[in-house]
Amino acid sequence: HSATKFIAGHSDVVAGLAATKDEKLAEQLGFLQNSFGSILGAHDCWLVLRGLKTLHCRMTQSSASAVKIAENLSDHPLVEQVYYPGFRFHPGSSTQTYQAQGSGAVLSFRLRDEEAVRQFTKHVELPVYAVSLGAVESILSYPARMSHASMPKEEREKRGITDGLLRLSVGLENPDDLIKDFHQALGKTESEAFLQTGG
Ligand SMILES: *Cc1c(COP(=O)(O)O)cnc(C)c1O
Repeated sequence: HSATKFIAGHSDVVAGLAATKDEKLAEQLGFLQNSFGSILGAHDCWLVLRGLKTLHCRMTQSSASAVKIAENLSDHPLVEQVYYPGFRFHPGSSTQTYQAQGSGAVLSFRLRDEEAVRQFTKHVELPVYAVSLGAVESILSYPARMSHASMPKEEREKRGITDGLLRLSVGLENPDDLIKDFHQALGKTESEAFLQTGG
């Protein structure tokens, strides 16, 4: 597992973990860790353990907020598409239901183009604009220019990673505050577009 994301959950540690209920395998893993010595520092371990204690509460709250935000964004005229496995019509919906209890805290949505993304990210105030996900703060990322920037454009488009796509990892803020923030940013995006096309 990556412990960097939801498990630690506070954007302050980079860590991975292997879990097994096979005692023999656990012993072998422990032996390797002990012999190589390339293990996580004590403070990082403490941060992961501390985050783990609230994992369930954080996931429950963030997923509930994500549902609300996904539904709300779907109704906005400037949002062309919302991708969220909690939607029954999402192609990954049955996989999500099979693998997990909730619908998760991560969604993405598509605006018209890069310019719309530029305006929106300029005006949005609450989420952090960064590559990461799975933390107490909401994190907005722009895959075409961040995580998938090194992928050729045609390949990105084939996978739906268009220039208008934004990914949102929902944190623990009040979802109504986030929705309000998105609406004011979308409102400004709309008026900029209106000005640019000369009305
Ligand atoms: C996910 C991520 C990493 C790597 O963490 P993993 O434990 O490998 O998942 C590093 N930096 C950032 C900004 C990340 O979002």
